[in-house]
Amino acid sequence: MGTNKDYYDILGVSKTADEKEIKKAYRKLAMKYHPDKNPDDKSAEEKFKEINEAYEVLSDSEKRNIYDQYGADAVNNQGGFGGAGGFGGAGGFEDIFDIFGDMFGGGSGGFGGGFGSGFGSGRRGPMRGEDIRQSVNIDFEEAAFGKKVSLKVKKREECDVCHGTGAKPGTSKKTCSMCQGTGVVRDVKQTPFGNIATQHECPKCHGTGEEIDDPCTKCSGSGSVRTTKTIEVDIPAGIDDGQMIKLQGQGEFGELGAPRGDLYILINIRPHKQFKREGYDVYIDMPISFAQAALGDDIEVPTIDGNVKYSVPEGTQTGTVFRLKGKGIKKMNSSNRGDQYVKVVVETPKKLTDKQKELLIQFASESGETVQENKKSLGQKIEDFFSK
Ligand SMILES: [Zn+2]
Ligand SMILES: [Zn+2]
Repeated sequence: MGTNKDYYDILGVSKTADEKEIKKAYRKLAMKYHPDKNPDDKSAEEKFKEINEAYEVLSDSEKRNIYDQYGADAVNNQGGFGGAGGFGGAGGFEDIFDIFGDMFGGGSGGFGGGFGSGFGSGRRGPMRGEDIRQSVNIDFEEAAFGKKVSLKVKKREECDVCHGTGAKPGTSKKTCSMCQGTGVVRDVKQTPFGNIATQHECPKCHGTGEEIDDPCTKCSGSGSVRTTKTIEVDIPAGIDDGQMIKLQGQGEFGELGAPRGDLYILINIRPHKQFKREGYDVYIDMPISFAQAALGDDIEVPTIDGNVKYSVPEGTQTGTVFRLKGKGIKKMNSSNRGDQYVKVVVETPKKLTDKQKELLIQFASESGETVQENKKSLGQKIEDFFSK
């Protein structure tokens, strides 16, 4: 790779360009040369990498400073770059991801090798596959008892024609003629820091050390294709809203035998009409009549296992909470269950018959209370109260 790269020239901005101008220029160029828009165009791919490299430096004030003073090699040798995968340095990634999020509607995948290989000057190891995040909606009971769900997941998979090699079946890759299979090219430069030997990713093979003469036609030599896979997921009993299940290795295909990404499944639990949940305990409001509360009664209480009988004792007050032990939700990684808490709500009767009214008046008088026989409005009652 050239030692006198002009990053300003690459992005088409002046040496005094500010952060905004640089970002804007980068965005415009990256969109134009993105590999997804220029399939099988090697020169566009090269250009895209160059643009990324330039942006990585110029968007970081510290790196830009070093670059302004000492040139591209000094900044590329300065640490923070290099290493497998190549995102390396702090700063750049967030911004870049931001920009691509805008451009391609976010989501993972799609960038694959082309994106990652834009960075780093060291030998590029095969890229680990991308992680995928997906959410799933389940019912209250499904969370309590567990459920098997089938999830459709869009992801990049190994090409089944070439099995990820990128070479047309029957042909094989050969050692890269430019780097002799090392994946890197070296040069030495004299700088104010002394002699600095730098390694750059081989521009011909993008660090793989291999060349493909006859690319696979299904995947255009990339070794992977986009597919939709149905994945069976065992959602464990006891899972709670907002928790995440990690399925290791179910993310995107990692190129050239690199590990696959992981699949993260975010659990959303639909609210239940009656039950509320707090940890592994279940809460429910249980309406009972005044007579049931006063006299006591055997009532049927809904639980996640179905109705259970409960004997409400005589003289139960509204707001009383009783506990049904072990009727809550099964704890994850344990055979124990939480409890169910039942709050008694005594309902005041409405729309009484004349007979009922009469009985209540009798009931009141038996308790030594005087209850107005004639129904008075609230306003009248208040008036009475203040005129006493
Ligand atoms: Zn293929
Ligand atoms: Zn090479």
